[in-house]
Amino acid sequence: MKNRKLVMIPGPTPVARSTQNEMGRETTAFGDPLFVKDFKGLIEDLKVMMNTDGEVFVVAGTGTMAMEMAVANVTKRGDNILLVSHGFFGDRFIDLCQRKGLNVDVLASEWGKAVPVEEIDRKLSEKNYAAITVTHVDTATGVCAPVAEIGEVIRKYPDTIYIVDGVCASAAEPEDMVGMGIDVLLTGSQKAFGVSPGLAIVWAGKKALERRKQLGTIPEFYIDFEKWLPIMENPAKYFATPAVNLIWALKDAVRIINEEGLKERQDRHRKVAKATQAAMESLGFRILAEEGFRAVTLSNLIYPEGVDDLEFRNTLSEEGVFVAGGLGAYAGRMFRLGHMGNIDMHDSVSAIAAIERTLYRLGKHTELGKGVGVFMKEMME
Ligand code: PMP
Repeated sequence: MKNRKLVMIPGPTPVARSTQNEMGRETTAFGDPLFVKDFKGLIEDLKVMMNTDGEVFVVAGTGTMAMEMAVANVTKRGDNILLVSHGFFGDRFIDLCQRKGLNVDVLASEWGKAVPVEEIDRKLSEKNYAAITVTHVDTATGVCAPVAEIGEVIRKYPDTIYIVDGVCASAAEPEDMVGMGIDVLLTGSQKAFGVSPGLAIVWAGKKALERRKQLGTIPEFYIDFEKWLPIMENPAKYFATPAVNLIWALKDAVRIINEEGLKERQDRHRKVAKATQAAMESLGFRILAEEGFRAVTLSNLIYPEGVDDLEFRNTLSEEGVFVAGGLGAYAGRMFRLGHMGNIDMHDSVSAIAAIERTLYRLGKHTELGKGVGVFMKEMME
């Protein structure tokens, strides 16, 4: 039998068999009382998961649409918005917001570093911002923003809606909307939830929903909170056809998450990330994100001297592991290893072993087992 291929990119992530089975079910009418009951249950579970005092919207689309949905429902043309960017996905908000006629200010860090919270505070005190966006984990840099600390600062600015992009974080990094003062949290189905791509999930707290009401009619139609609110309150109603099978799949993924326990899941991610990062450092890779701001969902690893990106990734793929390349200025200098969702300790051990075999084949490594040894020691602590 041929070896399995491990998909260790930062999304889409592996989908559990039971979740795949939900996508293979015969599609039913969205008005089928059994589906309505499932959808309703999912909505309730998701609200509890992120501790919101508002609503959650589960809509067919991707993370980018969720970003747009978040911004469109809490701002209007001419408003000021502050974008905190730790990389490619933080920057994605710039064009998105400019197209909506928002006055955009950007606080960007050098890749791998985090914008200091004091700088965010200073900027917010300069003018009235309708909203601020923070990317919880920027997938391009592996920098994890201190969302709770930023939330504390934002509490001083009651007119500012706090939007958090959780696409590469939700269900793995701690997120508590009421506790952290997050007004809008958004994600996609294909990362730490472990569902195929295709669903946008947007939580909106009370303050965000009030802002939406104040705006009156907004230019956007499909992503308007007001259009979806009646459906999220009663999924028997119709606005636009729900992605029936993906909703079942997400429901199964939430069951898996709750069976593990959200806190236990976060702890597992933290432990595996720390051990993986120690192992990769022992093999000569450098982690792009500075210490204290490293994501638990993926590692952004800069190659040791003399390792060619394409040669490395092609050989690694022959050894059975798919990883992602670097973005922006780090294309060719770095690779990205996902370790979120259903990727567990066993996958990580296998991936590190395959990386060692790859380096060995490229003549860059002699001590086979070194990285795996470091990983296992860290895991046993
Ligand atoms: N934000 C972050 C942090 C992401 O990692 C991604 C996708 N990698 C997106 C937004 C965009 O999501 P999508 O590709 O599902 O549109």
